[in-house]
Amino acid sequence: MKLAILGAAESGVGAAILAQQKNYDVFVSDMGQISERYKNLLNQHNIEWEESKHTPERILCADEVIKSPGIPDTAPMVAAIIKAGIPILSEIEFAARYTNAKMLCITGSNGKTTTTSLIYHILSKAGFNVGLAGNIGHSLALQVAQGDKDWYVIELSSFQLDNMYNFRANIAVLLNITPDHLDRYEFCMQNYVDSKMRILQNQTENDAFIYWTGDEYIPTELCKLKPVSQLLPFNEQTTTGTLAHCSSEMFTIIAPRRFEMPVSELSLQGKHNLRNMLAAAQAALAAGVEDEVLREALTDFPGVEHRLQKVCVKDGVTYINDSKATNVDACYCALDAMTTPTVLIIGGRDKGNDYSQLFNIVSEKCRALVYLGADNTKLHENFDNLGLPIADTHSMKECIEACRNLAQPGDTVLLSPCCASFDLFKNMEDRGEQFMELSQA
Ligand code: ADP
Repeated sequence: MKLAILGAAESGVGAAILAQQKNYDVFVSDMGQISERYKNLLNQHNIEWEESKHTPERILCADEVIKSPGIPDTAPMVAAIIKAGIPILSEIEFAARYTNAKMLCITGSNGKTTTTSLIYHILSKAGFNVGLAGNIGHSLALQVAQGDKDWYVIELSSFQLDNMYNFRANIAVLLNITPDHLDRYEFCMQNYVDSKMRILQNQTENDAFIYWTGDEYIPTELCKLKPVSQLLPFNEQTTTGTLAHCSSEMFTIIAPRRFEMPVSELSLQGKHNLRNMLAAAQAALAAGVEDEVLREALTDFPGVEHRLQKVCVKDGVTYINDSKATNVDACYCALDAMTTPTVLIIGGRDKGNDYSQLFNIVSEKCRALVYLGADNTKLHENFDNLGLPIADTHSMKECIEACRNLAQPGDTVLLSPCCASFDLFKNMEDRGEQFMELSQA
């Protein structure tokens, strides 16, 4: 069997190593430059590769293609593969063929990494033989190739789900569906919703599906799809139609098993994190984690960098790094978790954002707005009318100076930019790190 792999980073190189182990004839092709680390790995395994180009003759002769989730279907090489009728798989779909491990998968527009890391933290603490895969950790394929596990906790993006067909999640978590990445879905929300709902495909009555009932799309989609799996709805705000919820004092899971603990002992802050913790607790209980371990893990989970991460208190002002908030809903949730007047840093590369959802909460919570982007025109058009003090900045240095001028003791400066970071920064980590360094200086 001939296998071509497009994209030579974590997922592509992992898939190549596993495929070679399974006696495929493998060829790896990357339109960009391949990092030294991955080149070395491919060379060590005697896997053929090319960079800075795709050679159609080497790719269109493949029986199957594995595509990195970052490459859109509109890329000319992908369009040619589709036209030629060659099946395109995600690395997760491919790797799952070669393991009998139980799959605990998490998707949603926001909260995936937090929830995935939390579930991994709980299962590790419970002594499970567990791997972390998908958008975080090492590729599933590499882990399967190098020893395999009993359980995998996998963060799935819609792009991965798009190329998954026979994969079955034993426990699936769908946190929410809000507009994101619409540029990859023909600007059609239903296409993006359909992609997220693929997490349910192939589930049987022995599997569990954990989902948030407060979502605009999920309940309607479930009426249409009528899944056979055990349904485990959660909602932090209501007991109606839910099997996991919170009051101001108690964090309560009813199914898959009764579990309770005081809200005050939970390690993460914010309403959105209550949702993430409810989902994680249901998933852990469905996997068979004992109450005591679960209670401890929900108490000592340290959180994930760049997600509502408290950086420092300087001159009485608290600085919070939420650089990962790259869409409007994530920024909304961050503002919702703020308990003091807030100077909000917003901006970057816009992904077709509709900012109107933020107007009320910005008026209610913000002392001032600091725009941080190469081009802040759309921000001016949307937010200037709210009448808040505004600063227009084009580097993190300028931005922090503006925050220092605008914030008063007792306030919070929140970097929760709603946008991608690539206009001024290498990536969202770079943006968050610069923010942390300069805010502490
Ligand atoms: P993802 O991996 O889906 O991007 P993260 O856990 O990295 O999710 O969080 C991304 C952003 O979304 C963070 O800024 C965080 O504040 C916000 N967020 C986290 N959980 C939720 C949730 N359940 N609903 C809405 N927003 C959330």
